[in-house]
Amino acid sequence: SQHMETHGFQTEVKQLLHLMIHSLYSNKEIFLRELVSNASDAADKLRFKALSDDSLLANDSELRVRVAADKDAKTITISDNGIGMTRDEVMQHLGTIAKSGTAEFFSKLSGDQAKDSRLIGQFGVGFYSAFIVADKVTVRTRAAGADASDAVEWVSAGEGEFTIASIEKAKRGTDIILHLRDDAEEFLDNFRLRGIITKYSDHLSIPVEMPANVSDDEEQKQESWEAVNSGQALWTREKADISDDEYKEFYKSVAHDFEDPLLWSHNKVEGTHEYTSLLYIPKRAPWDLWNREQQSGIKLYVKRVFIMDDAKQLMPSYLRFVKGLMDSNDLPLNVSREILQDNKITRAMRNGSTKKVLSMLSKLAKDEPETYQEFWDTFGNVLKEGPAEDPANQEKIAGLLRFASTHNDSAAATVSLDHYLERMPEQQNKIYYIVADSYEAAANNPALEIFRKKGIEVLLMSERIDEWLMSHLSEYKEKPFQAVTRGDLDLGDLDNEDDKKQQKKVEKDFAKQVKRFKETLGERVKDVRVTHRLTDSPACIVTDDDDMSTQMAKLMEAAGQ
Ligand code: ADP
Ligand code: MG
Repeated sequence: SQHMETHGFQTEVKQLLHLMIHSLYSNKEIFLRELVSNASDAADKLRFKALSDDSLLANDSELRVRVAADKDAKTITISDNGIGMTRDEVMQHLGTIAKSGTAEFFSKLSGDQAKDSRLIGQFGVGFYSAFIVADKVTVRTRAAGADASDAVEWVSAGEGEFTIASIEKAKRGTDIILHLRDDAEEFLDNFRLRGIITKYSDHLSIPVEMPANVSDDEEQKQESWEAVNSGQALWTREKADISDDEYKEFYKSVAHDFEDPLLWSHNKVEGTHEYTSLLYIPKRAPWDLWNREQQSGIKLYVKRVFIMDDAKQLMPSYLRFVKGLMDSNDLPLNVSREILQDNKITRAMRNGSTKKVLSMLSKLAKDEPETYQEFWDTFGNVLKEGPAEDPANQEKIAGLLRFASTHNDSAAATVSLDHYLERMPEQQNKIYYIVADSYEAAANNPALEIFRKKGIEVLLMSERIDEWLMSHLSEYKEKPFQAVTRGDLDLGDLDNEDDKKQQKKVEKDFAKQVKRFKETLGERVKDVRVTHRLTDSPACIVTDDDDMSTQMAKLMEAAGQ
C-alpha cells in the first residue's frame, strides 16, 4: 500500500479505548451490535443519497451486511456495501470523538468498573468497541462514487495510534477485520455469532448474512450467504406479534443502552397524518442530559427509509430523554432539517407524540407509583422545563410534578399536586409553596410558622429550576399558586373573624414601632409592615408580588445580570 501515514488518536479516544477494554469485559458481545449497526447506518445513508443520485448504487443495489469468522486466521470480518468513507472521513470518524462534552464526561468516571461500564454504555462506544475483542483492527473502505484505486485502509492496535494508507478495493463499502484477542476466541463460533445477531440485529431492515453452510468446502462457503435476521423493521410489525423481549432488545440497539428501558409506547397513527412512533423512556439519565447541545434521541424515517438521527423538531426539549423513532407516511423522502423546522406534518407528529409521552407517564404514575418515582428522581428536573416550553400541556405536566412538602416533612420529592388538593381544607383556595436554596432553608423558613400552626400544607421547593418553573405555572385545576414569602399574605377564609379583629388591634398597637423602623432603615427597604405570619420569629424579609423573588435575584446575580 502507498502513502502510509501514522497518526495519534485524540486524547479522548485513548481514554475511551482504555476504559472500554477495562470495564466492558463482561459485555464483550456488544461489539457486533455496534459494528453491524454502523453497517446498517451506512446502507441507510447510501439509500438516502441515492434518492437524488442513483448512479451511486452502480450495479450493486442489494444493500446488505455480511459477517464471517475465519477460525485459522482468528478473525471476524464485517463487510457492507453501504456508503463507505473517504480518506478525510476515515481520519475524522475513526480518530476522534465528535461528541461535545466528552472531556467532561471522562472526568466523571469513578474508577469503579460497574459504575463506569454503565456510564460508558450510556455514552455509546460505537466503532471503538471493536477493541473490546480485537487487538488489531483493519478497516478497508471505498466511498460510494469513488474509484477502486481511491480506497483507504486504516489499521490500529488501539494503543494510541493508527496508520492510514491508500489501497485498491474492488467494491464499494466497508470491510472491518477484527484480529481477535486470545480471550475473545469464543466469537469464532458461528453458532455464537448467529445468536448475537438475532439478539441485537433482528429488527434491522437490511439483511445480515452469514455463510450459508458450515461445510468444509471453502469454495462453496465463499459463495453462498443466507440472512440470519428476519429483516423486517420492528416498528412496522403488529403490536400483538412483538414480545416484550423484542421491544427491549430493540431499545438497547437504538439507544445504545445496556439496560432495559423503563417503559415504551408503540403507536400507529392514522387519519389526516399517518405515522408510526415507537417511544422509550430509559431507566437512567444519559451522560449529557444537561448538555445544552444535547442530541435528541429520536430518529426520523419516511416510509421505512431512515432519514436522520437527532430529529429535534419531533420532540420538545423538556422530553429530550425520550428515545426511539418516528416513521412518517406523509413527509417527502427528500425532507431536510429546514423543512422539518416549520411543517404541519412535523408539528402534528410532535404534538401527537408529546401527548403520548405525557399520557404514558400519567398512566405509570397511577398504576405503578414506585416505578414512577424512579422516573421522577431521574428525569423530574427536565420535565420541570415543560410548563415554560409547552404552555398548551401545562396542566398535564403539572399533574406529573412531585415536590417535598410540610405534609411529610421529608426532603424526598414525592407529593403530587393532586395529593395536595385532596388534603386541602374546603376554605383554602390557593396552593402554597416556598422556594429556597436548600430543603433545610425551605423547611425552616419563618414564613412557614403560621401555616404549620394552622395545619396548612406548603410545598417545599429547592431545586435550581423551581423558581423558573413557578414563574410559568400560575394555577393547577383552577387553584392559583401562592408563594408564602411574597407580598401581603392573605389567608382569606382561613382566618376567622376573631383572628382578623386581633390582627387589626396588633397593627394599631405597633404603628409607632413600624414608623421608627422605617425611619431607621430608610432607603434600604421598600416598606415595613406588621405581619401575622410569624409565630416564633420576630421578623422576616419578603418581596412584593410584582418584584423579583430573592431566589430569582440570586440566580440573576449568579448569571452575571
Ligand atoms: P455513531 O455510529 O454513533 O456515529 P460510531 O463510533 O459507531 O458512532 O461510528 C463513527 C462514525 O464512523 C460513523 O458515524 C460513520 O460516519 C463512520 N462509520 C463507522 N462504520 C462505518 C461503516 N461501516 N461505513 C461507513 N461509515 C462508517
Ligand atoms: Mg455506531
